[in-house]
Amino acid sequence: MHARFNRAAALQAAAAVAVAIEHHDAAGALSGLLRIDAAPGAFERMQEALDALRAASAGDVSDYLRVVDAGEASRISGIALAHPAWFYPRGGWVDPGALAQSFLARAGSRATLRTGRTVDALRRSGDRWDLIDAAGALLETADAVVLAGAGDALRLVGSPDWPVEAVRGQLSWLALDAWPGAQPQVPVAGSGYVLPPVDGRLIFGATTTVGDSDARVRASDHASNLRRLAVLTGVEPTRVDGIGGRTAWRSSAEDRLPLVGALPALDLLGRGKAPEAGPPPRGHRLDQPRFVPREPGLFICSALGSRGITWSALAAQVLAATITGGPLPLEADLIDAIDPARFVSRAVRRARAG
Ligand SMILES: Cc1cc2nc3c(=O)[nH]c(=O)nc-3n(C[C@H](O)[C@H](O)[C@H](O)COP(=O)(O)OP(=O)(O)OC[C@H]3O[C@@H](n4cnc5c(N)ncnc54)[C@H](O)[C@@H]3O)c2cc1C
Repeated sequence: MHARFNRAAALQAAAAVAVAIEHHDAAGALSGLLRIDAAPGAFERMQEALDALRAASAGDVSDYLRVVDAGEASRISGIALAHPAWFYPRGGWVDPGALAQSFLARAGSRATLRTGRTVDALRRSGDRWDLIDAAGALLETADAVVLAGAGDALRLVGSPDWPVEAVRGQLSWLALDAWPGAQPQVPVAGSGYVLPPVDGRLIFGATTTVGDSDARVRASDHASNLRRLAVLTGVEPTRVDGIGGRTAWRSSAEDRLPLVGALPALDLLGRGKAPEAGPPPRGHRLDQPRFVPREPGLFICSALGSRGITWSALAAQVLAATITGGPLPLEADLIDAIDPARFVSRAVRRARAG
C-alpha cells in the first residue's frame, strides 16, 4: 500500500516540480535521486526486488527505478559512495516555498493567499462554514473548508484521539568552503541525506524526535546530522563554526499515510472514545471507511509526515476530485488507505473484536 501510494505521489510530484522549475523559476533539479543501502547483501536483494517489481508491472520500470552498484552510484552522484543504491531517475529536489508559489501561480485568479491569520474555530452557518479568529471575528465564510494546518488541523474539529503525532526535525547546512569533498550532483539519501549545493551551501539532515517541542536549533542535532553526513559521504567538514539549520515539525500518522479526504461526521469523531460497537448511527455501516457518513463541506489534507513535498500534488488531486465529485486519481483501496475515516472504522472493528 505504501509503495503504491508513494510511487503514484512521486510521479505526480515530479510533474509538479518540473512545472515549478521550468515556468516559475523554482530552485531545484530533476536529475535523479540516490537512496543508498549499506546492509550486507543489499545489491542482490535490491535486484531481486526490482525483478519482482518488473514482473508485477509486466514491463520496464527503468525510467522510474534502477539498482546501481557503488561504482555507478559514485558516478551519478559525483561523490565516492561505498554502497549500492536505488536510483530514481525522475527524482530530485526543489525549494518547497517555490513549489508552493508555483501551485498558487498555476491556480491564477482562482486562488488568493492570505497569511498572518490564525483560524481559531469553525462554526456551521447554514450550509457553509464560518472561520473565526481568537477574538471571535469572522475571517471567512466558505462552502468547503480543507483543514491543512498540519499539527493544528485536528484541533479545529475537537482534537479526536487519532494516532497522529508531531515529530521534530532539524536540518543543517554548511558553507561550501568548509567542505573538502566533492559536491553531490544529485540528492543522496541513506541514514540521512545531503542535497546538491544550494546558494553556496551544503544542506543535510535531518533529525527525528518524537514528543519534542523545542523550537531552538540545537548543537546536539547538528552533531548527529554531521555524523550522518560522514557515514553517507565518508568526508568530514574542515570546520563547523558557521553551521546553520532549521527546526520544524512533521505531523505523522501512526500508519505513515496521510489524512486526505472528507472528514467523518463530527459526531463520529468520538473525542477520544471509540464509536460504539452497537448499531451504527443513521443506518450507516462504519466498519469500512467508504461507508462512513461525512461532515458536509469539511475536508482534510494533513499528516503529511516527512513526505509532504512528495505527496502534495497527488493529495491535492484527490481532494479536488473528492470535493467536486470528479473521477478519483487513485484506486479505491488506496483512497481507503488515506481516508481520514479509517480511524473511525478501525475503532469500530477493534470494539467489535472485543
Ligand atoms: C527537517 C525536515 C525535513 C523534511 N524533508 C522533507 C523532504 O525531504 N521531502 C518531503 O517531501 N518532505 C519533507 N519534510 C516534510 C514536509 O516539510 C512536511 O510534510 C510538509 O511541510 C507538510 O505540509 P503541511 O502544509 O501539511 O504543513 P506545514 O508545512 O507545517 O504547514 C502548515 C501551515 O498551516 C498553518 N496553520 C496551522 N494552523 C493554522 C490555523 N489554525 N490557522 C491558520 N493557519 C494555520 C501554519 O502556520 C503553516 O503555515 C521535512 C520536514 C522536516 C521538519
